[in-house]
Amino acid sequence: PGTERPQGRVVDDEEGGVLFLSGSHHSSSSSRYGYASIDKQRQRLPVFKYRTAILYLVETRATTIIVGETGSGKTTQIPQYLKEAGWAAGGRLIACTQPRRLAVQAVASRVAEEMGVKLGEEVGYTIRFEDVTKPDVTVLKFLTDGVLLREMMDDPLLTKYSVIMLDEAHERSISTDILLGLLKKIQRRRPELRLIISSATIEAKSMSDFFRMRKKRREPENEEHGLQVEPVILSVEGRGFNVQINYSEEPVQDYVQAAVSTVLLIHEREPAGDVLVFLTGQDDIDASVQLLNDEVQTTGKHSSGLIVLPLYSGLSRAEQELVFSQAPRGKRKVIISTNIAETSLTLEGIVYVVDSGFSKQRFYNPISDIENLVVAPISRASARQRAGRAGRVRPGKCYRLYTEEYFLNHMSNEGIPEIQRSSMVSCVIQVLDDDAKLTSPTGFQVAEIPLDPMVSKMIIASSQLGCSEEIITIAAVLSVQSIWISGRGIQKESDEAKLRFAAAEGDHVTFLNVYKGFHQSGKSSQWCHKNYVNYHAMRKVLEVREQLKRIAKRIGLVLKSCESDMQVVRKAVTAGFFANACHLEEYSHNGMYKTLRGSQEVYIHPSSVLFRVNPKWVIYNSLVSTDRQYMRNVITIDPSCLLEAAPHFYQLQQSNHLLR
Ligand code: ADP
Ligand code: MG
Repeated sequence: PGTERPQGRVVDDEEGGVLFLSGSHHSSSSSRYGYASIDKQRQRLPVFKYRTAILYLVETRATTIIVGETGSGKTTQIPQYLKEAGWAAGGRLIACTQPRRLAVQAVASRVAEEMGVKLGEEVGYTIRFEDVTKPDVTVLKFLTDGVLLREMMDDPLLTKYSVIMLDEAHERSISTDILLGLLKKIQRRRPELRLIISSATIEAKSMSDFFRMRKKRREPENEEHGLQVEPVILSVEGRGFNVQINYSEEPVQDYVQAAVSTVLLIHEREPAGDVLVFLTGQDDIDASVQLLNDEVQTTGKHSSGLIVLPLYSGLSRAEQELVFSQAPRGKRKVIISTNIAETSLTLEGIVYVVDSGFSKQRFYNPISDIENLVVAPISRASARQRAGRAGRVRPGKCYRLYTEEYFLNHMSNEGIPEIQRSSMVSCVIQVLDDDAKLTSPTGFQVAEIPLDPMVSKMIIASSQLGCSEEIITIAAVLSVQSIWISGRGIQKESDEAKLRFAAAEGDHVTFLNVYKGFHQSGKSSQWCHKNYVNYHAMRKVLEVREQLKRIAKRIGLVLKSCESDMQVVRKAVTAGFFANACHLEEYSHNGMYKTLRGSQEVYIHPSSVLFRVNPKWVIYNSLVSTDRQYMRNVITIDPSCLLEAAPHFYQLQQSNHLLR
């Protein structure tokens, strides 16, 4: 690429060795899309002013840090600038990572649209179980940071990439944090590799401190190449109008209900403009969508003209497109989202934000060794970021479903990076290097499978036990959020439908029954509808299943069905998930179990077919915490299989639990 000089004013901040570029303010033209040509829209984005500066820095520095507000154009524009400047010439690829799958898909399809190409050709994406790229054709590749980490296993120096942009670095996902460390090492071996780290403004200061700390160390190898190794921070000022903040006067008991009432109030009293509601996950989002739609249908008066749409990972492409498309004239769009809309995705037209104050976060308890997805309070930094989503097109309003006192005195200032609150098992197995070799062949096989190590171990065991067909089906079902259709108002019907498939062994075998029925129906969507089974989830299961079968064959596993011998299926599950074994506390009379590892109190989740059945010994697939710790996807086990599956693990505990 040809060297271009930056046009902006470059200020050398001597103390930190950090360059800040400041430019004039962006024009405040209307950003309602659909009117201007794509080129005009692209040029209006704040990041466009820095195009030359960015290209100059990427050419002269090994690492460039770019900080800019959500919506300033980092994700969609910078990869295109790099391509335009020639970084994809000669068969090389430009990569841009995102922590979330849905963001990868949405951003890739937006960029393909801007470039006027078909998704999967010049612009493609890869997420777990889905590779939409074309060898020798794709030059811009969007991928999750987890997928990039896995690519390192086949190609440790990531030789096919010329530039890697680690986006959303402020999220500090585990994979991003690990990648940061590994990419620095790769750069020592491959000085031509360029790294761009980009993030929203919220943690800019700690990011820059992180790199300042490393300033003192000299890395002479790279300086020989005439390349400056000190990273540089470029900050792009965003647009951003005032956002008026409204707090709840009283603490809110039920934030789903409160969110719904707030949306209706906004719709009744406030002028046109779309609404973005932050809830935590599929369950509460589906519930509020349903409540709002009920309202639209029954009262009509207050809520006519509302279009209510959910936004969470796992939506089909068509559903995603609805979220991003403009509402018809006279209609108001209400998007109810997880915190994916906090920084990863930009939604146009939002003027009102409703913030529940919560998000789902991964927490790991090193004492009990249990990793949980927990609904937890967000930080003040997140709350500000959420409010900012209301001020992109014009002055907006944010409704916080918590009190001002709570915001000021009880919210933590910044979130805790995921790496500090997660189990590292799957990451560590994936990235072990020369110093920490995997010691057994099973270890290697486990590392080959793009799944949680426990699931991988279960699949490998199933090959030895002769039930790999069944276990691969189970693993595929466990990889989707839920195969059931749920929601308020249809609970009874869906519970009854579930009973038709229920197996005494538990949820895993129940899944096999559902899969069998689905298969026998010719994979029919009517069949799914009739049985309260989620058709999209089942399509995904089929897809994942195919991919798992390919991987299983590649690593030499035997594909075989055990027909109806569910005993071996339970054995295989036990082999993988022995660490999640629990024992019913019979004296408790309320279905309380204790985990064998940590004597933690856990209960069977109401969605399980074993709910209220309470068998003596069970193994769960995952835990969810709400008021209690609930086990999701539970299967009965034979305690003797535990000893068989993991003698090293249960030896010491025998006297305590197993022989009781
Ligand atoms: P950043 O990464 O800095 O948060 P993006 O590059 O994601 O910003 O978005 C830049 C702009 O591109 C947004 O402000 C919006 O106008 C537009 N945009 C992004 N994604 C879409 C989409 N799916 N549909 C329509 N416009 C979009
Ligand atoms: Mg972005």
